Amino acid sequence: MATYVKDFSEGDRDQKDLLGGKGANLAEMTRLGLPVPPGFTITTEACRAFMRTGEVPAELRVEVTMALRRLEDALGRQLGDFHEPLLVSVRSGAKFSMPGMMETVLNVGLNDASVQGLAQFSGDERFAWDSYRRLIQMFGRTVLGLEGELFADALDKAKAGRGVTSDVELTADDLRVLVDTFKEIVRTETGKEFPQHPREQLDLAIVAVLQSWGTERARLYRRKERIPDDLGTAVNVCSMVFGNLGPTSGTGVAFTRNPSTGETGDYGDYLVNAQGEDVVAGIRNTLSLADLEEVDPVAYGELRQAMRRLETHYRDLCDIEFTIERGKLWMLQTRVGKRTAPAAFRIACQLVDEHLITMDEALSRVNGAQLSQLLFPQFDADGERTLLTKAMAASPGAAVGMAVFDSVTAQEWAEEGKDVILVRRETNPDDLGGMIAAVGILTARGGKTSHAAVVARGMGRTAVVGAEALDIDMVTRSFTVTGHKVHEGDVIAIDGSTGDVFLGSVPVMPSPVSTYLEEGLDVALASTDDEETRDLVMAVDRILRHADATRRLHVHANADTAEDAARARRLGAEGIGLCRTEHMFLGERRVLVERVVLATQDATRQEALDALLPLQREDFVDLLREMDGLPTTIRLLDPPLHEFLPDFTELSVKVALAEASGNVDEADVQLLAAVTRMHEANPMLGLRGVRLGLVVPGLFALQIRAICEAVAIRRVAGGDPHAEIMVPLVGSVQELRIIREEALGIMAEVGAEHGITLDLPVGVMIELPRAALTADRIAEEAQFFSFGTNDLTQTTWGFSRDDVEGAFFAQYTANGVLSVSPFETIDAKGVGRLVRIAVEEGRATRPDLTIGVCGEHGGDPESIRFFDSVGLDYVSCSPFRVPVARLEAGRASV
Ligand code: ADP
Ligand code: MG
Ligand code: MG
Repeated sequence: MATYVKDFSEGDRDQKDLLGGKGANLAEMTRLGLPVPPGFTITTEACRAFMRTGEVPAELRVEVTMALRRLEDALGRQLGDFHEPLLVSVRSGAKFSMPGMMETVLNVGLNDASVQGLAQFSGDERFAWDSYRRLIQMFGRTVLGLEGELFADALDKAKAGRGVTSDVELTADDLRVLVDTFKEIVRTETGKEFPQHPREQLDLAIVAVLQSWGTERARLYRRKERIPDDLGTAVNVCSMVFGNLGPTSGTGVAFTRNPSTGETGDYGDYLVNAQGEDVVAGIRNTLSLADLEEVDPVAYGELRQAMRRLETHYRDLCDIEFTIERGKLWMLQTRVGKRTAPAAFRIACQLVDEHLITMDEALSRVNGAQLSQLLFPQFDADGERTLLTKAMAASPGAAVGMAVFDSVTAQEWAEEGKDVILVRRETNPDDLGGMIAAVGILTARGGKTSHAAVVARGMGRTAVVGAEALDIDMVTRSFTVTGHKVHEGDVIAIDGSTGDVFLGSVPVMPSPVSTYLEEGLDVALASTDDEETRDLVMAVDRILRHADATRRLHVHANADTAEDAARARRLGAEGIGLCRTEHMFLGERRVLVERVVLATQDATRQEALDALLPLQREDFVDLLREMDGLPTTIRLLDPPLHEFLPDFTELSVKVALAEASGNVDEADVQLLAAVTRMHEANPMLGLRGVRLGLVVPGLFALQIRAICEAVAIRRVAGGDPHAEIMVPLVGSVQELRIIREEALGIMAEVGAEHGITLDLPVGVMIELPRAALTADRIAEEAQFFSFGTNDLTQTTWGFSRDDVEGAFFAQYTANGVLSVSPFETIDAKGVGRLVRIAVEEGRATRPDLTIGVCGEHGGDPESIRFFDSVGLDYVSCSPFRVPVARLEAGRASV
């Protein structure tokens, strides 16, 4: 027994798996002695049992009874009693916060009798009826599944009937009538009465929360945030406190620092005479915490103290939900708060300076995804622009797109490849699909802690909220603002760092952080005198330098040209992990390669090879000059043959037409014969990589010679070149042995010609399962391994990336076969297993084997963690991912 329910006083913050985030933190705050209304948590264990069987476990009902009795005894009141009724909230709360994704019902326990008791007990009839109508409204929506609009419309009508605009202006009598209307709605829509029995209300609400874990939008959110589907949610049953008890009551949301910019000092929204949801829903405009200080200095003082306490305890930015009931502060929720990328870097450094965390911890508080967000361009302040309005900057970034007015259109247009900005009066959880699809979000109502703001920040989407000047007309699908009319499809631009909304598109410029990375700290600091921006740049610098000092993995870059190499080096690359030579044979050189591959006579082939040699050599000289002193791994040609050779069909048609008209070109006929010979049904698995090198005489020799001569030229010029020769698509040690012997011969020759010793490392790209599985043998000939995880993933799974990503991956992630594309994050269980085997066996043969990875996974945070854990020496990624990889490699070793 007692596995399904725990009192708040029993748990602590480490029990998030069992109690969910909200429950664990409610327990922690209770332990700290903060004023939390007592209650209990139904564990995720119960939810998992519910998901398995589709039924509420019988033990759960019993345990809920026991916990409820304990709560009633402690408070001296009974759930839904006629005298002094105890009311509770029933709140969802999973391990990872899913803002607004699941359901909460407040005021459970109110019925026709207890509403009278509540009125008497509180001495406030209006409040009692307000609470009752809220219960029916929330219960109707979330438990009975009725349209929220039904209730919202009735409420609007009631306000209109009284000629008032705000719900606080409705009287007790108005609300009593409204309750009748609401009950009528329930009766008509469900054919049943609104349940009067308090325990029945409680049980139904609990089931609704358990079920909310499985809703479509909750699934969608989890997929986006990569939260596993099988965790389940906890359910918190919490005794009610009331922010809607008149002018000395209210409810709010607070952050211990600004989660948008990272500025120090508290930050939040407060709404007088309101209950929970009101603040987040953005239905009335809120006060700031500074205003609260004026309204109620005592409660504000207590709140400040609680915030400091929590921040010290969690040693991080906390966000808090609180309610003030007739001047008494109650804490309803806390958690380590979500924040924007700039805030993450700045706050981490602030906390170090406040001696609350170490630099290692600071490093673990930021991540590569946040760093890449900081690299996004910003609007150019000197560019031409038409300002429409200024509102709240809720989530930074510069977004330009077509205005759309609903979530479905946003998704459809985005699917067509359009950039869209979702414009809404306010957002609610049903808008999630559109928010994901949009490049930016603009709302007319709501504060910095509204649903739109919180969700946008969580997913790094640019957002501007509370643009009250916007007059949105859903009928004509347009909005008007300061004399301009913007229709659906018109382009607008929003700046999530300033809150500016522009008409048309606005030119962008590099962000200060990318200036820092490309040109150094001094240049970046000199480029702006905005204090916050400078602070951010310095924070990034500090943390990145710590990452560099901490990481075990080296970071190399994939760069095919001297230009890319130079860029990679500026961004901190410590070598080139992969220089592909294919592109070097494009343009006019393609014909030469064609000739080399298709030649039937040695003389023709040699001629083409001779022409290519100096061109290749020059490429390598340039590359090695840029990478002086650093390892530069050059991969021998691995061409997709079908891209290099003339198109088989086209050529056939050409020859056929020529034959028909009687003027046959003998060269074309021969070419067709050659192409026919080379034609492959499945080029990905055809004559590629080392296979081509072995079949076409002189091709690899040409490249190896060009590399060797380039090294010689650089050495003679006083440089320090470190070229390495990488052989692609090796499946058997014999393949490598042949190429290696050839390479040794060429090194000796070129060395003799230049009077130097050449000893270039020769290694392999491990991109076939067979290579991984025979790594012990291959290491006899290879001086280094580099995992080509793109091909290794394709050959391990047996599917080609180009063919499957659009075709069925969406379905595969929807039905849970894949949680993420194996091309994005390494499939640790399958492909990763091959990597482990190859590392182990390769090093068993050759302990000083250098091992890296050069697939796109080299720039993916989760994959980097994996590569660190299996002991690779370096990851290699595209130049612009290098800073991200440096940061993530640092994080992997703290
Ligand atoms: P969410 O996870 O969507 O924030 P919550 O469970 O925190 O949902 O509840 C929604 C709102 O109701 C919040 O503003 C919360 O502070 C408020 N609330 C929840 N429980 C109580 C309670 N026992 N007394 C007063 N307000 C409550
Ligand atoms: Mg909450
Ligand atoms: Mg490959």
